[in-house]
Amino acid sequence: MSTDRNEAHRVVIVGGGFGGMAAAQALRRSGAQVTVIDRTNHNLFQPLLYQVATAALSTTDIALPIRSVFRRQPNIRVIMAVVRGIDRAAREVQLEDAPPVPYDTLVLATGSRYSWFGHDEWARFAPALKTSAGALDLRNRLLGAFERAELATDADSMRRLLTFVVIGAGPTGVELSGAIAELARYTLARDFRHIRPGDARIVLCDAGDRVLASFPERLSRYAARQLESMGIELRLGAPVETVDAGGVVAGGERIASECLFWAAGTEATPVARWLGIEGGRRGLVPVGPDCRLPDAPEIFVIGDAAQQAGANGKPLPGLGSVAKQQGRHVGRLIAERLAGRPGNAPFRYKDWGQLATIGRSSAVADFGWLRLTGFPAWVIWSAVHLLLLVNARSRAVVYVNWIWAWFTYGRGARVITAPRAQQTEKRQPA
Ligand SMILES: Cc1cc2nc3c(=O)[nH]c(=O)nc-3n(C[C@H](O)[C@H](O)[C@H](O)COP(=O)(O)OP(=O)(O)OC[C@H]3O[C@@H](n4cnc5c(N)ncnc54)[C@H](O)[C@@H]3O)c2cc1C
Repeated sequence: MSTDRNEAHRVVIVGGGFGGMAAAQALRRSGAQVTVIDRTNHNLFQPLLYQVATAALSTTDIALPIRSVFRRQPNIRVIMAVVRGIDRAAREVQLEDAPPVPYDTLVLATGSRYSWFGHDEWARFAPALKTSAGALDLRNRLLGAFERAELATDADSMRRLLTFVVIGAGPTGVELSGAIAELARYTLARDFRHIRPGDARIVLCDAGDRVLASFPERLSRYAARQLESMGIELRLGAPVETVDAGGVVAGGERIASECLFWAAGTEATPVARWLGIEGGRRGLVPVGPDCRLPDAPEIFVIGDAAQQAGANGKPLPGLGSVAKQQGRHVGRLIAERLAGRPGNAPFRYKDWGQLATIGRSSAVADFGWLRLTGFPAWVIWSAVHLLLLVNARSRAVVYVNWIWAWFTYGRGARVITAPRAQQTEKRQPA
């Protein structure tokens, strides 16, 4: 830690997501000069991204400018830039198209990214849900498919355009397929004259043998029954073999579709490469009990980018709650060090349980000591997500939207933001 009393200690936080924001907030009164760097100008509440993709919410309902969060904290500076490396010897963060940023302490919280199992060429046909721009792209593809089906002149094209395939049956895949089913069966049901949106085919594929594999089996079985009752076709034990402009081959079966969504594996952002170290599982950065790099006490890695064992010895999951708690912990450790205390307490994850929603009034909740399904789980899911939203405005807007949608099945954000030419261009083979 820097000792010069006239010069504030420089903490650089890369990533303004769950982990990075929590770390910066914990450093509010530390006296450190904090710089938050993010490639976007906003903090994004990823758990509700699927609702942006399925036209229930607007991006602005779940994204907040990072600058506005720290408006009243003069010790926190925000930089919008893409980090492309770290010079550990010079203690500098290297940016694209901007001068490097020096640090005394570095917190890396750049999260994860989707992995197409080594087939990056699949990404253009089966995009994933990770960023605000990505959610709008998915929404354009989804709503655009109905528009194109309305103009189809033969039954095969219409069927292909009205077939939606979601790859990956974890919480995101389940939430996305449930929301697509509700959009097609209820919201759009009376909007078209030529097609019947309610006839849309929604297929959810996974290589594993159950949906929501991280939940107890009873809850997985409940979720599968609910999805099937919504008309969603499950293809379990069906690993994806090929993805192209005309569809997907999963478990040996070809499913013709022009609207595929990827919700399968994730991997770390390139933090290990920046640090010049060997990445662990899925490229994550192995860190010590206090979230520090073992050979560099001035560098912390938190959230989805880090690999850390929990109390049971198993790796901590890639969840917002883990990232947030780690961010808060690391911020406190840095503040303690600056105040002359040791600041090396190990991180202990407080596991509050897991939740996933399936559709209107239906969810699963696993708190370990209590497991709930159906409406009670859905009420808890809704309350928790509202509370976790970053500010009161977002909470109010999302709440009103949900109430409106619950009573009317309406989805107010049914806007296609790309002209039709662009939507089809993206799908053309390179
Ligand atoms: C669709 C979806 C649904 C989810 N649902 C849930 C849920 O219901 N519950 C739950 O607990 N978790 C959920 N998660 C997981 C949760 O969002 C993550 O675990 C959490 O966001 C991780 O926090 P983080 O701070 O590590 O990274 P993030 O929150 O992803 O933040 C990383 C930040 O780093 C920035 N960044 C990345 N690379 C660079 C770079 N090179 N230069 C500059 N900036 C960079 C990004 O722009 C981003 O702002 C979901 C995730 C997704 C994608």
